Amino acid sequence: MKKVLVLEDESSIRSFVVINLKRAGYTPIEADTAERAFIQMRQNPDIRVALLDIMLPDESIDGFEVCRRLRAADEKLGIIMLTARSQEMDKVMGLMTGADDYITKPFSPAELTARIDALYRRLGGEQDAEKSTLMFPPFKLDLRDTTFTKHDTKIRLTQVELNIIKLFMENPGKAISREEIYHSVWGSDDSSDLKIVDVNIRRVRIKIEDDPQNPVYITTVWGYGYRWGG
Ligand code: CA
Repeated sequence: MKKVLVLEDESSIRSFVVINLKRAGYTPIEADTAERAFIQMRQNPDIRVALLDIMLPDESIDGFEVCRRLRAADEKLGIIMLTARSQEMDKVMGLMTGADDYITKPFSPAELTARIDALYRRLGGEQDAEKSTLMFPPFKLDLRDTTFTKHDTKIRLTQVELNIIKLFMENPGKAISREEIYHSVWGSDDSSDLKIVDVNIRRVRIKIEDDPQNPVYITTVWGYGYRWGG
């Protein structure tokens, strides 16, 4: 069973999402409040992906805070935020701590399932058996148990961050365009959302660089993308 948490307070949108997830072969687990979402997560530890609406009723914490708490509890959970078009994207991006992706309302059933499919595929870990460890001193990425270490100290990464690191470590010294990163990590050809690449790179830098303001491991290739190892 491929369970997906659907946290959305508006019942019409929730029903729309639920119907389309079922149609695509998923088992939606519904929640209309943050509290309900946490209960559902506890009762369904096999939920792999969570769809979180940002704007929840006033008495509730918002989707960002739900995201933060779910991420703190499980770094491997796939998290997709549902945002309204009226919300300012920059603010949304800045607050998207720990989310893997976002979908802007209104969205089509095809868009919804494509994003969830892509995230599920990545989480499914099509592990390449041929190579189990990638080395780039002081870093080491173990692909079997997906641990990433710097000087033998474990760095906690989300699934998306891990996939970014993997892409870089497989292509040391090569300039990789933001489009390539987006395609490889998010599994989509739609390159209208490249900002999410920058947001995640910023986050990875904070975790792995000695001085994130002056990165030396992930360097910027101006007007193009990024490069691993300067
Ligand atoms: Ca809402």
